[in-house]
Amino acid sequence: MNIVIFGPQGSGKGTQADKLSEKFNLSHIETGQIFRDIAREDSLLGAKIKDLNEHKEMIPDQITIEVLRHYLELVSKDKGVILDSAPRTVGQIEPVEELMSLEGRAIDKAIYIRLPYEESVARITKRYMCMLCFRHFVIGKHIQLASEDCPTCGGPIMQRGDDTPDGIAKRLKTFYEVTVPVIEKYREKGILIEVDGNQGVEEVFADIINQI
Ligand SMILES: [Zn+2]
Repeated sequence: MNIVIFGPQGSGKGTQADKLSEKFNLSHIETGQIFRDIAREDSLLGAKIKDLNEHKEMIPDQITIEVLRHYLELVSKDKGVILDSAPRTVGQIEPVEELMSLEGRAIDKAIYIRLPYEESVARITKRYMCMLCFRHFVIGKHIQLASEDCPTCGGPIMQRGDDTPDGIAKRLKTFYEVTVPVIEKYREKGILIEVDGNQGVEEVFADIINQI
């Protein structure tokens, strides 16, 4: 089975993608995390991604497709994949599906985790990251105060650079304007599963499983 999963920031789609990967033996390909990793590399592509991130610009479709091609080729043929946040634009739908079919894959299900705008903002502002090991933490869940050190390595923690009010607003705007039309395409194809993200992790997961 091959799945694409969508949701605004804070919807918990990464967590659900992990749970689905485990249940259905899928390889979780998260383009956002891949680009954050590449941005830290000392390479031409790394410098370009870092520059785009700093200016809060979207990664061009062509780069996304090339990076995705690389990661898809690494997945063994007997495993399905779950693509997290790709295709992200209507323009990426065809190239992503072409890449998949080159690997003998078709998208079976598209999952959309809905979350009210204000709830996205409230959840994102609680997210922190360790500056040494780059692990992510949520205030009130993994740590109690933003002044604590990383529970894993003791390093200093801070909000992710793009989790400022401006960054959050811009990314949510991009999601609703650029990615929601992609989700509508999957609705037209008849493979969309929609769930309410404004409930607990296990409830959201149960809703998804029921609809798969
Ligand atoms: Zn750490």
